[in-house]
Amino acid sequence: MATIANNIQQVQRRIAAACAAAQRPVQSVTLLAVSKTQEASAVRDAFGAGQRAFGENYVQEALDKMAALADLRPQVEWHLIGPLQSNKTRVVAEHFDWVHSVDRLRVAQRLSEQRPAHLPPLNVCLQVNISGESSKSGAAPAEVHALAHAVAALPRLRLRGLMAIPEPEGDFEAQRAPHRLLRELQQVLVRDGLPLDTLSMGMSADLEAAIAEGSTLVRIGTAIFGARG
Ligand SMILES: *Cc1c(COP(=O)(O)O)cnc(C)c1O
Repeated sequence: MATIANNIQQVQRRIAAACAAAQRPVQSVTLLAVSKTQEASAVRDAFGAGQRAFGENYVQEALDKMAALADLRPQVEWHLIGPLQSNKTRVVAEHFDWVHSVDRLRVAQRLSEQRPAHLPPLNVCLQVNISGESSKSGAAPAEVHALAHAVAALPRLRLRGLMAIPEPEGDFEAQRAPHRLLRELQQVLVRDGLPLDTLSMGMSADLEAAIAEGSTLVRIGTAIFGARG
């Protein structure tokens, strides 16, 4: 508990320093705690330290954790950040607040159709394959424009912005380059009239570079919960 709380504080300090360096208000960056492979008790500890937004990669693992933490539900936001297959869209539409990994129209259409009427529209980001990720997830940059306009038109989704997982780089300037590309893609869409407010980029190793390039949401696992087993 003490460790997780201390880690969250330390990450908040890194975010604050990066915002100061970029002359951005610290409130312009949301911390998403990535709790994949962590026990529900670790999420509860982070919640106790004030953390409210959690990111999960695997649908079934996330559903189990949500059930174990049902008492916290009204105050917690659950974000799916891992790849999403078409056959899992219904439970995702029913249980998550955000999906960051939409990379094709068929999945977006299903999420929109399956989002329950009593819930607000599902927040989504389009995942972009910004540096030819080895994972192969994400839409190609050239596809993003058409995909964004099609997704923005779906009634039960709210398109919030773009997400990427760049290849790991050690050097700060090398880390900035793919984040800059994602920001530029987003700026084209905004100029085109889409009301996007979220750039989901930056992880434990590169959050400073991501914030320097305009990230509004950093997805942090290891720096909060420690190495994954
Ligand atoms: C695991 C994961 C993260 C967190 O990575 P860390 O390096 O542990 O901070 C962020 N985003 C996505 C999509 C992930 O899968």
